[in-house]
Amino acid sequence: MVANVLVELANKKVDRTFDYLVPSSLTPMVKVGIRVMVPFGNRSLEGFVLALKEESEIKELKEIIEIIDNEVVLNEELLALGKRIQEETLSPLISCYQVMLPKALKAKKGHHLGIKYESVISLTHEVVDLSCYNAPQKEIILKLQQEKECLKKELASISTSSLSTLLKKGILKEEKKEYYRLQKEVEKKEKYPLTLEQQKVVDEVLTSKNTYTPYLLHGVTGSGKTEVYMEIIEAVLKEGKKSIVLVPEISLTPQMVNRFQARFGSIVAILHSRLSEGEKYDEWRKIARGEVSIVIGARSAIFAPLSPLGAIIIDEEHTQSYHQENSPRYSAIDVALMRGETNNCPVILGSATPTLESYARAERGVYHLLELPHRVLNRPLPKVTIVDLKETRKRTNSYFSTTLLDKIRLRLEKKEQVMLLLNRRGYSSYLSCSNCGHVVKCPHCDISLTYHKNSNTLRCHYCGYGEKYITICPSCGEESMYSVGFGTEKVEEELKKCFPQTGIVRMDYDTTSRKGSHEKIIEDFASGKYQILLGTQMIAKGLDFPNVTLVGVINADTGLNIPDFRSSENTFQLLDQVSGRSGRGTSLGEVVIQTYNPDHYAIRYAKEHDYLGFYKEEMNIRKQLKYSPYYYMTLVKVSSAIDSIAKKEIEKIYRSLERNLSSSILLGPNPSPLYRINNTYYYQIIIKYKKEENLYPILEKVLNYYESNNQIKIIVDFNPRSFI
Ligand code: ADP
Ligand code: ZN
Repeated sequence: MVANVLVELANKKVDRTFDYLVPSSLTPMVKVGIRVMVPFGNRSLEGFVLALKEESEIKELKEIIEIIDNEVVLNEELLALGKRIQEETLSPLISCYQVMLPKALKAKKGHHLGIKYESVISLTHEVVDLSCYNAPQKEIILKLQQEKECLKKELASISTSSLSTLLKKGILKEEKKEYYRLQKEVEKKEKYPLTLEQQKVVDEVLTSKNTYTPYLLHGVTGSGKTEVYMEIIEAVLKEGKKSIVLVPEISLTPQMVNRFQARFGSIVAILHSRLSEGEKYDEWRKIARGEVSIVIGARSAIFAPLSPLGAIIIDEEHTQSYHQENSPRYSAIDVALMRGETNNCPVILGSATPTLESYARAERGVYHLLELPHRVLNRPLPKVTIVDLKETRKRTNSYFSTTLLDKIRLRLEKKEQVMLLLNRRGYSSYLSCSNCGHVVKCPHCDISLTYHKNSNTLRCHYCGYGEKYITICPSCGEESMYSVGFGTEKVEEELKKCFPQTGIVRMDYDTTSRKGSHEKIIEDFASGKYQILLGTQMIAKGLDFPNVTLVGVINADTGLNIPDFRSSENTFQLLDQVSGRSGRGTSLGEVVIQTYNPDHYAIRYAKEHDYLGFYKEEMNIRKQLKYSPYYYMTLVKVSSAIDSIAKKEIEKIYRSLERNLSSSILLGPNPSPLYRINNTYYYQIIIKYKKEENLYPILEKVLNYYESNNQIKIIVDFNPRSFI
């Protein structure tokens, strides 16, 4: 037998398969979709078996050295899916398969890295007469009679000596068993009866439960989308089918997961990047072994090996991180649609603020539009007040307008909770010299450093570089450095001065870097330990705190000046999402948005919760400027450690694109908005097109041409979410 093997070398030159002879000793074990070790040149490499055949055209074949997996890690659906992703993203096939699997699987054979074993105790035989045992021994035996088996450490906490006596006497036995971390009992909860609007949406989706149908569920914040998802999952489950639910990384809180576990119990697996590699591997094994029927996870959970699939749900479909920013640059939404097609099941994209691309598709009937225009139980959307910071600044130096301060005070008196958004972390934006104007920049990036007072450092938010805070200007030597702008750290400081008696907690990248800290902040805020939660865009999505009745946006303009054509859309989405955190319980909620641009349309429409109004106005702009969704947009970037080489090569690529693309508009070549990051220089071209037959062939040629050039790297990103 001959195996067709794709070797694991992340170098495009060998992104192809080779034939290997299967030695007869391995023949029964070698299957399509497992990994094997093969000789390659003078070393041995891992590879995926993509096909098996009787013979090869090649004469002298080398033999497979050994197998790595006993069970298939990539089933037929995923093998085919990887090929499609490769074709559509022009990424190496091997990277398309690697992204589907947990990293812990990369452990070498025999090591079982990531698998955790625990000592488990059980009774060797039925014990009828308990009279001859002492009290702790009885307790252990009774517990085992009830639970059949227990963790050794659990029984040892009753009495170590009794446990070892019973083991010695042969009444109990000890075994090492594979053990899943993250096992947790959640109390089951009764579900709510759906509202009429919710029921209508569920019914419509279920009419197509055995056919591939993409839906866009446009439901305002608090309209009960999650309840709708669970109802659909339950119906699908009754038919013996499984579901994937994608949620933005940051919304994957225990709160969110609990809602699913309380409804469905232990058949739910969770996959996101805050889990340890071992935990992820455990969850993945549960899925691969068919022990769970529902997977809730972030982007890469779209590859969960569940089968057969009955529904795929993508919550907050507008989330930028559903598009992966490194190779393979895939969109989880595209992959969801591919899997929906293969599995003949509905795919539901849900959001209060769908991307313009998705809503335009719904308008054209590519997606079926479903709507939840009201909050559940007639709860109104919160009233939004806009505060003009230009006016505020005339009267005070504070980051808080009197309007916002008064409203916070009122809510605190009522024992309600407040959420405050400032989408900028650190203490101040940057450090500047009042004498010579010098601004402290990152030595590796074309970016100013941000002052972090808590750690007394200046840090680069792009490459992670950090240095000690300075007071003396490195350029002119005067002691005249002062900090400009403000971030969450500074606002927290002022907030504590204004409300010294109030529990205040800050949630941003810096306070959530330790494992479990993100969850802890949310738990503490939910339990009422804090009355004010201050944070970056991390707090805007998904969270459901019924006691929050006021949301304040400290500065709505932070995202408006970013050089990206989507900055208005991103601002509208952020404002609408964070507003949606207010008034989700029984009390009426309100929102205060502070801005220097009260007349900006993104802010005006956010005030009215008017998604359609925003959509129409923004679509007009996109049409005039020939941007997505009127045109497809593909980004081509060149990066190099040597500036002049990157510049020369992007110009070469530009000329070749110009010659070969007849129906496209080319923007560039330009230095990228983030021109130097980590001592690497970036240049880019944006290709805009409606239909361009030559696009893939020419981009493939470009990629092939540079594949063995070590001085530069080419990045091709189809329909990226960010052009920076
Ligand atoms: P969304 O995902 O659209 O923001 P959620 O599903 O989180 O909305 O629902 C908002 C709140 O309303 C949650 O606290 C949820 O438990 C509650 N809820 C949802 N549906 C119902 C219902 N039919 N009856 C009562 N409460 C509901
Ligand atoms: Zn840097």
